[in-house]
Amino acid sequence: MAPIASLLPVSQDIYRKIVFEIDDGVIGIDKTGIIRLCNPSAERIFGWEPGGLLEKHLNVMLPEHLHAFHARLVSGFFSGVDEARYMGARTAEIVGRRADGSDIHLGITILKTSTASVPMMIAVIRDISERISYQRELLRLAQTDPLTGLLNRRAFYESFAARMALGEPAISSVALLDLDEFKALNDRYGHDAGDETIIRFADILRQTIRSADLAARWGGEEFILFLPDTSSQSAVAVVERVRAAFADAVFDWRRGGSGSLTVSAGIVTDRIGKGGLDAAVARADIALYDAKRGGRNRIVRIRDPQDTVAMSADH
Ligand code: GH3
Ligand code: MG
Ligand code: MG
Repeated sequence: MAPIASLLPVSQDIYRKIVFEIDDGVIGIDKTGIIRLCNPSAERIFGWEPGGLLEKHLNVMLPEHLHAFHARLVSGFFSGVDEARYMGARTAEIVGRRADGSDIHLGITILKTSTASVPMMIAVIRDISERISYQRELLRLAQTDPLTGLLNRRAFYESFAARMALGEPAISSVALLDLDEFKALNDRYGHDAGDETIIRFADILRQTIRSADLAARWGGEEFILFLPDTSSQSAVAVVERVRAAFADAVFDWRRGGSGSLTVSAGIVTDRIGKGGLDAAVARADIALYDAKRGGRNRIVRIRDPQDTVAMSADH
């Protein structure tokens, strides 16, 4: 049978050289948490001078809130409870602290060693800060509508699901808002004027809603609000503030035109559970259609399928 793995009988020098030159940080601590071994990469990753980490306590490489956690980890390790594990995979990220006090994201492999002399806990450390910030930026881009900075439709569904996971509100409202006669604006003053108007409308939405509410660009010149724990009356008040603020905004579009626009909205209020978003949106869409048909620049609300109340802008 062929050997699965073999160690060449090489001199200790080779191992020393590997530890010295490897790009990953290698740190060894004794059971009191004092750093007894440290390679140049670890010093570089944590921003210390050569030799600066040796004989210091492990805590100099950790933010305060992790001191107790790591103390437990170290004692668990020395009492033989913990196996070698890749901590970067177990929790999404491990945070360390550089010499200058800044935080750093790390992937760590803890190695179980039993040397003849001092028992040591060895950590092999990789700086994954760049990868983490890249991942966060990708996530942000994937969730954000680039024109307005609002949530996009997918992120709206995700945020709605996250909100429902906290518990379903007894009553919530969903509002669909659609800018009126928007195509005519594009045709007359150009696509840039349309974009500028959409951006301004998104600003009004952001300024009007509460932090618990969700606002998203549903598509084109259509927007959606999810207002948890919000009665029909309160939802109408919120959307009415948006409607009025937008109607009052005067635009100076670059192609020389100036003017204002209006928005129509459909609101549905109900017990909206985690599987109930699509049905609520469909009903809000019917109300929105009624608002358009009723002359635009107005809000139509549905409290239940039998109850449709149209409110004209000047009421
Ligand atoms: P209504 O009052 O019935 O809503 O009429 P409308 O003209 O607003 O409706 P319609 O859906 O026919 O037109 C929407 C237009 O919005 C069509 C599309 O070209 C434009 N639009 C969609 N997304 C954008 C965008 O990101 N920027 C600009 N400038 N225009 C957009
Ligand atoms: Mg429209
Ligand atoms: Mg539309």
